[in-house]
Amino acid sequence: MRAAVLRHVQQLADDDLPGYVYDLPGLREHARTIRAALPQRVDLLYATKANSDPRLLQALAEHVNGFEVASGGEIRHVRGLFPDAPIAFGGPGKTPAELTQALDAGVRRLHVESEHELGTLTTVLGDRTADVLLRVNVPVAVRSAALAMGGGPSPFGLDPSQLDRCLQIIADDGRIRLHGLHVHLASGLDARAHLALVDQVMGWADRWAHQRGIGLTEVNIGGGMGVDYAHPRDVFDWPAFGIGLRRPLERHPGLTLRIEPGRSVTAYCGWYVTQVLDVKFSRDEAFAVLRGGTHHLRTPAAKQHNQPFEVIPDDSWHQHWHRPEARHEPVTLVGQLCTPKDVLARRVMVDRLRVGDRIAFAMAGAYAWNISHHEFLMHPQPTFHHVDDADAPAVDAHAIQTA
Ligand SMILES: *Cc1c(COP(=O)(O)O)cnc(C)c1O
Repeated sequence: MRAAVLRHVQQLADDDLPGYVYDLPGLREHARTIRAALPQRVDLLYATKANSDPRLLQALAEHVNGFEVASGGEIRHVRGLFPDAPIAFGGPGKTPAELTQALDAGVRRLHVESEHELGTLTTVLGDRTADVLLRVNVPVAVRSAALAMGGGPSPFGLDPSQLDRCLQIIADDGRIRLHGLHVHLASGLDARAHLALVDQVMGWADRWAHQRGIGLTEVNIGGGMGVDYAHPRDVFDWPAFGIGLRRPLERHPGLTLRIEPGRSVTAYCGWYVTQVLDVKFSRDEAFAVLRGGTHHLRTPAAKQHNQPFEVIPDDSWHQHWHRPEARHEPVTLVGQLCTPKDVLARRVMVDRLRVGDRIAFAMAGAYAWNISHHEFLMHPQPTFHHVDDADAPAVDAHAIQTA
């Protein structure tokens, strides 16, 4: 945790916990690194669904080429913040109202998910035009992916067998401009695996376009850049990815590639900070019960991993009984929910963990608060804090060094 963020965490009152703390300078720096690693002909869109917090989006805005959204709500949200930012609208099950809303909002690209959706688009266009990519479930082998959304049978995108009928609808209609293809097949890929996928996708797309006499001008290769929760320092290798993307660009002089990562952009900037309420032993196994739980941070339950964390010791203890603690042993960190699934990290070794110590869960900036089931059990919601160096609180150098 950066010193400025730690300072902020230490200054939170107990009543502020649990709290989400977002590291905005860290996010800006990370986004700048990603953008700098990519060739110029690669557009970087941020997948808003990963975390749509307005201040995160504002921090990202100057480093990305636009935003990918997947609902009418996200269109309204992003348009409200950025009247002119390029928006790409993807996702399954777009309603006629959402398609109309997208056209009204001047959405730059529509990612068409089915033949029926394309038909629906023709009914809401009126005298307008639409710029589309066809999202295809390209027949490739997707290996080592944490979450596969394509390759096999899938509700996402068009089956290749339906593409010709889509081309026919577009040709007959005359108001729809086809710019190319969209492919988002998997998530959790490292740079090598992602480049191998891009290679397969581009090979398939080349053959497809060539057979139909289509010049490919745009391919969106989706998101899915991996985030390794077990090894927080193993960040997706953006420089290697950027270098690898030069090859398809060199082979296609007129092509623009687009990527739309979410998790790998914002995961690292968020911390879920809470406090140990109880430490207990059951059949000799240690459990720490924390304020809050997976109704605030569903990520470890959804992905079945241990959320990485840092212990921030708090030495104040005012009770007359012995302070409950676990020492040099594995501890399971659970929340306040009455369900055995409310586990944030299982059997993780700690040096010492005491009632009253603070826990800062790392990598809680993507698919964290916004995918959680907030209302379950009606506990209070967390507080939200955006640390920016400009308005960082005064420094207590001693506290930084000892924590
Ligand atoms: C969710 C999603 C993304 C972002 O995926 P990450 O794994 O967060 O990078 C990009 N494109 C589409 C179509 C998506 O559904």
